[in-house]
Amino acid sequence: PSITRGVTVEIPKVTWEDIGGLKDLKKKLQQAVEWPIKHSAAFSRLGVSPVRGILLHGPPGCSKTTLAKAAAHAAQASFFSLRFELFPCPNKGYVDSAGVLKLYSMYVGEGEALLRNTFQRARLAAPSIIFFDEADVVAAKRGGSSSSNITVGERLLSTLLTEMDGLEEAKGILVLAATNRPHAIDAALMRPGRFDLVLYVPPPDLEARYEILRVHTRNMKIGPDVDLRRIAEDTELFTGAELEGLCREAGIVALRENIAATVVCDHHFQVVKDSLKPALTRAEID
Ligand code: ATP
Repeated sequence: PSITRGVTVEIPKVTWEDIGGLKDLKKKLQQAVEWPIKHSAAFSRLGVSPVRGILLHGPPGCSKTTLAKAAAHAAQASFFSLRFELFPCPNKGYVDSAGVLKLYSMYVGEGEALLRNTFQRARLAAPSIIFFDEADVVAAKRGGSSSSNITVGERLLSTLLTEMDGLEEAKGILVLAATNRPHAIDAALMRPGRFDLVLYVPPPDLEARYEILRVHTRNMKIGPDVDLRRIAEDTELFTGAELEGLCREAGIVALRENIAATVVCDHHFQVVKDSLKPALTRAEID
């Protein structure tokens, strides 16, 4: 197995208005992310320690990443996005029978160095948000292997714990993480001072679907026959990502039908909707 990883840094342009629904969740994030950065003096004055880590969990395509970016935008914080992926790669290591990644020693250290380096850069660029997408890779539960044979995952986790604990003195740095598999995250990260706040990001309900459709059609020319409320009613189980895809595809269908088209009509939405099958099942959201 090998590790691929990448870090991107930016102040994201996404705003809270780009996210349909999730009103309460946005408010909680605003308080946890924006307040300590914008009003750090007030926190110090009252001796209140701000949240240092937030874990967002929920099904794919329901805006975990977008929420993290919007929070960074609102706080005007540098956004360091990190992603670790493990995949089989002959000659570099192997996955043991329990599915645990083991790298040969010469490759060990790469991931930890990247983590330490990112925290260091985030300190210099504060206010900063360090975002871990697919956090269950970097924060995977420990497997109980012997110390002479600790896995790459365990080394990453222990580096992450050390770095998060080191944030105690740092001001204006927050760790956000997203996962579809919260149970795969090591319990040590759930202690106070690490991921203090755990937020479930649910699939959109009717009202949220309507708002998401509005967000993704606001720059489109849609005909007067398009009833977004009805489309929201007919798209139960669709995720935000699928609704975004539906709007985009409807536009493409309209152009395919007539490249000189001036509006996207209801039947374009209907054709696409009928061809899509949501990835989520009722069992997953009940
Ligand atoms: P994954 O677990 O697959 O990484 P995610 O939960 O992080 O998914 P995002 O990457 O934030 O989801 O969202 C995927 C796409 O769906 C984005 O382009 C986003 O614009 C759109 N989307 C998802 N939810 C919403 C929403 N509530 N409002 C507007 N757009 C949304």
